[in-house]
Amino acid sequence: MEAVVLAGGLGTRLRSVVSDVPKPMAPVGGRPFLRFVLDNLAARGVDRVVLAVGYMRGRIMDYFGDFYRGARLVYSVEEEPLLTGGAVRKALELCRDEAVFVVNGDTLLDADFEAMERLRAERGASLVMAVRRVGDAGRFGTVCVNEQGRIESFAEKGARREGLVNGGICLMNRRWLSDMPEGAFSLERDVFEPRVKRADMYALECRGLFMDMGVPEDYARACRELSQESFSRRAVFFDRDGTINVDVGHAFRPEQLRFVEGMPEFLARWNEWGYRVIVATNQSGIARGLYSEDDMRALHREMNRRLKAFGAHVDAFYHCPHHPDFTGPCVCRKPAPGMLKKALADFELDPAECLLFGDSSEDMAAAAACGIMGVRVPSARA
Ligand SMILES: [Zn+2]
Repeated sequence: MEAVVLAGGLGTRLRSVVSDVPKPMAPVGGRPFLRFVLDNLAARGVDRVVLAVGYMRGRIMDYFGDFYRGARLVYSVEEEPLLTGGAVRKALELCRDEAVFVVNGDTLLDADFEAMERLRAERGASLVMAVRRVGDAGRFGTVCVNEQGRIESFAEKGARREGLVNGGICLMNRRWLSDMPEGAFSLERDVFEPRVKRADMYALECRGLFMDMGVPEDYARACRELSQESFSRRAVFFDRDGTINVDVGHAFRPEQLRFVEGMPEFLARWNEWGYRVIVATNQSGIARGLYSEDDMRALHREMNRRLKAFGAHVDAFYHCPHHPDFTGPCVCRKPAPGMLKKALADFELDPAECLLFGDSSEDMAAAAACGIMGVRVPSARA
């Protein structure tokens, strides 16, 4: 799954509270707010994120780099402010999926991505917007929805009343904005409102967490509530080929995937016990030109799809695409500990509370270098 995250906001409304960082980087409990947004996406299976950045983009790019929680991060750079519409249009050019989640970098919403995808498929919708019922909808502008979930109109900001508001997450057809001119335009005013008559925009009501960092009261609430959230500091790491699945040598097609007997059930137990389940895999097949990063991601999605039947899931896949003969030395290829170190930082894990299962001495060496206990398992080969 792919997402575009709007992280180019100027933060004018928040400037009274936080002045030296772009709005999505405002600190909440010692972490930038954008981390909560990206955590939310990674937890829902988003494995490729295009970040639309502009104002103070260096702060964002330096902090996150090219990967976060196993998801590839790509940056769409705005040289001048493009407003919401222009920023999304430009970022969508870097996407590949048929439909893409478009997410505000300064709001947090507990949205049901699978239900949004189902609604899009069932209705042939161009857009599915996650909406949230709030007491003071007038502050945001109301979304008017009929009984079938179709969006009928948008009401201006105004009087204080209960209603549905745009929750800051949409599932959008990738080509939906390709007929709009390049440059600055507003998604709400120049696209949503004129297109509502086409009757192919739907809304899905989401309950649960909703925070808008553009509002100082919500920022204060985020600092209070999110910083008190307790994170699991425990993880169990797995090597992939030969450990989770039978090693067939540079597997990349879904039909090559065969689980080692008992592994899906084993993963499910760790999930149940509150451990993060993280895969760290050397994928030199990418450096060798045997398959692409997209092929690999598709295989990982298939793995999680099949694990679901066992009540199991992998929280994140970390990979090293290098090989010294083709791409020179790197810090991530096991026995080097780069992948494990990145995962420890991304998930804020305590190495003493982690374990690693692998079938090679390289796995054991990488674990030892991070203070993680390694458990060697027999190698499963075809
Ligand atoms: Zn590497």
